[in-house]
Amino acid sequence: MKIPKTVNRYCPYCNEKTRQKVKIVGAGGKRGTLTRGSIARARARGLGRGIGNKGKWGSKPAVSKFKRKSKTTKKTNIMYICEKCGKAKYRQGRRNKRAGKVMQE
Ligand SMILES: [Zn+2]
Repeated sequence: MKIPKTVNRYCPYCNEKTRQKVKIVGAGGKRGTLTRGSIARARARGLGRGIGNKGKWGSKPAVSKFKRKSKTTKKTNIMYICEKCGKAKYRQGRRNKRAGKVMQE
């Protein structure tokens, strides 16, 4: 996704349009990675480690990444930081080609 470095957009703290820096934030932690019966938990137990055929606990996921074809774009979470007051506003990701035009409020 093409994202401009700065955008002119409304800041609710300044109550006017200001220049705001665009910062991409990560997705954060994954939920439910240590649920009962998960592969991550088995790995922590020590299964699927070492040499040889790991069978059920092998490296490949159930459906490998390149087989999944439903999503071709990525959702990007954006933090807008106001250059006037320094406050940040979070915007959850959308599937867009360009962020600047659509994401302005
Ligand atoms: Zn502001």
